[in-house]
Amino acid sequence: MKTLMLSVDEIETAARIIREGGLVAMPTETVYGLAADAYNGKAVANIFRAKGRPMDNPLIVHISELEQIYGLVREFPDKARRLADRFWPGPLTMILPKSDKIPDEVSAGLDTVAVRCPSDPNARKLISLSCPLAAPSANLSGSPSPTSAQHVLNDMDGRIDAIIDGGECDVGVESTVITLATDPPRLLRPGGITLEQLREAIGEVILDDAVLNPLKNGEKAASPGMKYKHYAPKAELTLLRGSEESFLRYVNSRKDGKTAVLCYDEEIDDLRLPFIPLGRAKDYHVQASRLFSALREADDKGFERVFAHCPGTEGVGLAVYNRMIRAAGFKIVEL
Ligand code: AMP
Ligand code: MG
Repeated sequence: MKTLMLSVDEIETAARIIREGGLVAMPTETVYGLAADAYNGKAVANIFRAKGRPMDNPLIVHISELEQIYGLVREFPDKARRLADRFWPGPLTMILPKSDKIPDEVSAGLDTVAVRCPSDPNARKLISLSCPLAAPSANLSGSPSPTSAQHVLNDMDGRIDAIIDGGECDVGVESTVITLATDPPRLLRPGGITLEQLREAIGEVILDDAVLNPLKNGEKAASPGMKYKHYAPKAELTLLRGSEESFLRYVNSRKDGKTAVLCYDEEIDDLRLPFIPLGRAKDYHVQASRLFSALREADDKGFERVFAHCPGTEGVGLAVYNRMIRAAGFKIVEL
């Protein structure tokens, strides 16, 4: 299959591919998504094939207008409406009881469906010219999510029909996922909309254990995606937790030509080995937008080991931390 690279002026071509049951990678404000018609089970099954994604990991359905949600869910409770009013369009996904029209391929056999209304104008245009779109991140399963059209091409060339090149993604990590199918609601995956913002909007929100910790043996994931190794570069990533001073001492003793550091801007002047800066230590928005492309860059440059400094867990830091510990397979060294 030849993969077309489309400009944002060619979204009508992309919409036609979707209507004919094909697969299109689209830019969103979080990461690039690999989209198919959410009501076409066969097209959706091809997403799993193209990514090598386990069939038991459900997809998010993307809408461009709130009205479209009534075709997707069985119930739309008051708390969901408040969250939609406040955070849509934007990087928030809500899990709700699903309608019968959702193919099993989308929900992976669960009786709930994940729904999001993205703010990216090109994603919105594609949806409004076609239909609600089922879309996971447009990377090969397990590797870092793509934040540019080039990242998508590197993973998906020859596997999908087209890619819309909408430049780099703003947020850089996948959407916040909250389930409203339980009471109180539960945060399953942190993202650009923070736990603090959710609690301010609807009161109590529980932080699911799997956000910060590996699943225990035999434990069932509230969000199936949490049980898989994720976002991992080929290089071995290790997180270091401690002061700037202890971090610098630890990494500077590992100058072997094969090791690199994901660092904060404040640390650059004192580093004695190759580094990839993530932004300032407390600027979690910038860190989120750079994390995945930094992990891909470390691989492109052939590093075998990468050390990163553990971020804080307040605000968007929680999303950065959650992706980093998964990319590192939960390897953390306490300094
Ligand atoms: P991705 O779009 O690749 O980031 O994957 C979507 C994420 O949403 C995965 O972690 C899924 O497990 C999660 N997800 C999608 N639908 C549901 C659902 N119905 N219940 C719980 N988690 C879901
Ligand atoms: Mg993904």
